[in-house]
Amino acid sequence: MNVAPEVTPIPCLKDNYAYLLRCPSTGQTGVVDPSVAQPVLKVLRDKGWGLDCIFNTHHHWDHVGGNEELKQQFPSVRIFGHQSDEGRIPGLTDGVQDGQVVGFGAIRGFVIHNPGHTTGAITYVWGDAAFTGDTLFAAGCGRIFEGSPQDMYSSLHQKIGSLPPETRLYFGHEYTEKNLEFCLDVEPNNHKAHVLLKEVRKIRSEGKFTTPSTISQEFATNPFMRTKELEIQKRVRELEPDADLSPVSVFRVLREYKNRF
Ligand SMILES: [Zn+2]
Repeated sequence: MNVAPEVTPIPCLKDNYAYLLRCPSTGQTGVVDPSVAQPVLKVLRDKGWGLDCIFNTHHHWDHVGGNEELKQQFPSVRIFGHQSDEGRIPGLTDGVQDGQVVGFGAIRGFVIHNPGHTTGAITYVWGDAAFTGDTLFAAGCGRIFEGSPQDMYSSLHQKIGSLPPETRLYFGHEYTEKNLEFCLDVEPNNHKAHVLLKEVRKIRSEGKFTTPSTISQEFATNPFMRTKELEIQKRVRELEPDADLSPVSVFRVLREYKNRF
């Protein structure tokens, strides 16, 4: 069934999101990136649901930290992650690879392997919903810990970026406001980013979430998806006068600047 699951964002720790998923036809459930178990268990209790699957986007502790406690509560839970993260994702039962069909209940989707943040980073796609972990954020992207700028650029542009424009992007951290401030530093005349920042500040002041974004929103407001924009390239020249202006080089300069922004 090529439909998206029902999605409930669960804020965890300081700014992480876990996402509780439910198949509307079978009632089976999953959770994406439970950094800690307790907030997830609370929502499951409130709803009266069990847990069938854990879907980890990568091995960092603030995405897998709840795996073992959830497994204690639900011993038959299946735990998904990239096959190369065997030994790094606690309790991994289902190592997956690029393009592999993955689902739960009646829901079937697929995995995108998008290395860069980590070598085993993946995105799960079900219907029009994608779970990008720390690879693509609203108006930003993850740090490059285990890959090259070329890896991360390809993951964002050729892989995630080729999903349909209306795809909803459920990302791993609530960084949207800061990311848009960065966007306006490197592209001050991005009108859509100005409008979105205003909306985001209102949303945050009401204690609400900015997740999900969409692919089309990212191509409009995410500097890491806009490396061909002349205004951004001009800023990159200011930051690094010798930089060539190939897309990957612009991406690298932006990413390094963001690390110290
Ligand atoms: Zn991470």
